[in-house]
Amino acid sequence: MAQQQYNTIGIDIGGTNLRFALVDHLGSLIAQTKVPTPKDNEALLTLLASHARNLVLKSPISVGGIGVGWPGPVDRKLGKIIKAPNITGLEHFPLTSFLSKELGLPCFLENDAKCAALGEKAYGAAKEYKHFVLLTFGTGIGGAIYIDDNLYYGKTGGAGEIGHMTIVEDGKPCPCGNKGCFERYASSIALERLAEEKTGNKLSSQQIVEDYESGEASAANLIERFTDHVATGIASIVNVFDPEAVLLSGGLFSSPHNTLIQLIEEKIRNRCFTSFQKTLKILPSTLQGSAGIVGAATLARTESLRKS
Ligand SMILES: [Zn+2]
Repeated sequence: MAQQQYNTIGIDIGGTNLRFALVDHLGSLIAQTKVPTPKDNEALLTLLASHARNLVLKSPISVGGIGVGWPGPVDRKLGKIIKAPNITGLEHFPLTSFLSKELGLPCFLENDAKCAALGEKAYGAAKEYKHFVLLTFGTGIGGAIYIDDNLYYGKTGGAGEIGHMTIVEDGKPCPCGNKGCFERYASSIALERLAEEKTGNKLSSQQIVEDYESGEASAANLIERFTDHVATGIASIVNVFDPEAVLLSGGLFSSPHNTLIQLIEEKIRNRCFTSFQKTLKILPSTLQGSAGIVGAATLARTESLRKS
């Protein structure tokens, strides 16, 4: 099948929302839907099949396959979920077989941050880079590493769990079983918890960034501390991988002013090797909230082509 002769479906499964999109060969979203993630897993599987089916029916041309991003480690070769901290009970579930049977289409599974990196590489901010790292900031911190133009998987396929890199010895406990993980200090939720702890106010991370950009002193203190944590983790990654670019994805980084990224960049430059600094770029994801679904649809396209 020639590239442009079919569309693909991207599904991004999150602990909070399920997102679905019908995507063309240019990475454009032809149709999309978002629904809250149900607590019940049977309801979740039913929703996955029904919303994907609706998009297949909406497609003006044939659909070549379905790609799914899962918020945790997966066995991508067998199309099975391994686990996810926020969705329990589907461990080892053969998700691709289930969806292929329901929809009669080839289905492919990948970790959600790796999907976001596939999307940014194909259509977004990472197009021109062979060596880059992408971090997604949300409830936790997801990571994906591109080396020599390829996603790096490691021995068991799970490489890139940057959120679980230890940055504080004997620090805050993490659901992964370790202590002092990067995401306990540098995720969007970590910033919101820090704000609540220091000010007593429940604010969204985006609100805190907006307050910082409008010059509020209390927000400035929070952001100073938060960005110290973010930069500590990223500078270590830069020193290990010497990437051309680090892409930051998540609502935190969607402000058009980019002040948060500028502050993080300055702090990273103070910490990483000077030889790496000359060409290093710290960039916001350009696909932002759509990176996961566009990347999942890209996965379906590249894997279908590989198998055809
Ligand atoms: Zn952890």
